[in-house]
Amino acid sequence: MSQNSDHPKFDTLAVRAGALRSDFQEHSEALFLTSSFVYRDAAEAARRFANQEPGYLYSRFTNPTVTMFQDRLAALEGAESCTATATGMAAIASTVLGLLKSGDHVVSSRSVFGTVVPLLDQICKKLGIDTTWVAPADLDAWKSAIRPNTKLLFCETPSNPLAEVCDIAALADIAHQAGAFLAVDNCLLTPALQRPIEHGADLVIHSATKYLDGQGRVLAGAVCGRKELIEPVYGFVRTAGSALSPFNAWVCLKGMETLRIRIEEQSRSAFRLAQWLEAQPQVAKVHYAGLQSHPQYALAYRQANAQGAVVSFEVKGGREAAWRLVDSVRLISITANLGDTKTTITHPATTTHARISQAERDAAGISEGLLRVAVGLEDIADIEQDLLSGLNAK
Ligand SMILES: *Cc1c(COP(=O)(O)O)cnc(C)c1O
Repeated sequence: MSQNSDHPKFDTLAVRAGALRSDFQEHSEALFLTSSFVYRDAAEAARRFANQEPGYLYSRFTNPTVTMFQDRLAALEGAESCTATATGMAAIASTVLGLLKSGDHVVSSRSVFGTVVPLLDQICKKLGIDTTWVAPADLDAWKSAIRPNTKLLFCETPSNPLAEVCDIAALADIAHQAGAFLAVDNCLLTPALQRPIEHGADLVIHSATKYLDGQGRVLAGAVCGRKELIEPVYGFVRTAGSALSPFNAWVCLKGMETLRIRIEEQSRSAFRLAQWLEAQPQVAKVHYAGLQSHPQYALAYRQANAQGAVVSFEVKGGREAAWRLVDSVRLISITANLGDTKTTITHPATTTHARISQAERDAAGISEGLLRVAVGLEDIADIEQDLLSGLNAK
């Protein structure tokens, strides 16, 4: 990496960290769209396969564009190492399967990305890894869920869609006293707003599909942490084949250059939208960690600079009123994705949370009137106008 300072700051790292240059001396990081690499002679091939000399072999193992993505993200998270994966779910699965074995135990926040539930309750359980689910903000519940065989604590903060906040430093203490690791899914805030390793987390997991790409183009994931923890995760990725494609790595690598500017602007808009929604008579409740009415407001700002771009709110009138709002928007996209430049709206109870039972939805606080907006980069006045016509629709 070319740099002028011994301790470059976040914005400098975002555009320069990890950059590799080929013999062509390209200025912009190149996309190495190749599945394999050639050797000068048989002896060089043998040395590389024997790990006696660094060099690229095959893009399931690694690829220069993927290396650049990994090194840039590690620099932004303040991590020693990073391994990239095909998707965010591949990052979570590779972490659990790379680090844990049969007989180990996981304690996970109940408010995590929906697909994590079948990963832990079905696939991992079948392999002899049990999970206990706890309320994210209840530290006593985390403590009493610990068993002698607990190896991993897993959380996402703030949670999606209800913006519950996990105390990263307190969970790291609980994990370390039990001889376990804390892994934090940092997808919603990204290292531009929150760096979990600085608060004691051992592993940071990303769905790069969201804000690291930032424009809704590709799927990608990553796991960051100390070398000794990333090594077995990488071992799983290269063997199981959950590796990231060079093209997707390149899209996210370039996306990270504008990450802080985008997510700060999106957070500012989301904060304004959350305040505006709180003032609307048709809205019963707004879930956003940046609001002073949020029960964990102080903690939220202790561990993050801003509270991200996802705002959820409950409209009066249940599903009927919520669907009426969704059906009346003209600008906002009706889609379950988030992290895009375009604002999106979702009705969680009938989309992202439709496959769990009514009782589970009630326990998770996913009501029929709940809507989730992931704020993009449009002028927020246009988004408010679009929502206002939906709130007023008859
Ligand atoms: C989307 C998402 C994931 C899963 O990522 P994919 O790239 O879709 O596999 C994991 N965690 C969070 C918080 C997400 O929003």
